[in-house]
Amino acid sequence: MKGLFVGEDFCCCMGCAQAELRSIWEGRSSWEDGPMPYVYFHEQDVDHVIEGGPLNLAFGAIGTVGNVSDALRFLGRDLTSTLRQCGLEVDWFGDIDRRIAVRMAWDRRAPALD
Ligand SMILES: [Zn+2]
Repeated sequence: MKGLFVGEDFCCCMGCAQAELRSIWEGRSSWEDGPMPYVYFHEQDVDHVIEGGPLNLAFGAIGTVGNVSDALRFLGRDLTSTLRQCGLEVDWFGDIDRRIAVRMAWDRRAPALD
């Protein structure tokens, strides 16, 4: 997906992440005009996974004008199908106000043996 911003462990929470995305979008050069689609998870999302929950992905677009719910639904479907093609179990049912939940079990890596 062209121009998609992807953030792993991106900022501490949703509020900070959205502010940072806006700042990144505003700092882009003119040839990158237009909305910037994004998908990310933040630090609290990682904590949620460590506690046994799914990894919740936020997605959307910064810089959109008017009603873009169809475009966001398309983005959600595209992300969901890409994640499924990677072999991940994903729960998302087309509601753009809900985050994409990736089912996973947190495992600590075993210490290296000498
Ligand atoms: Zn924060």
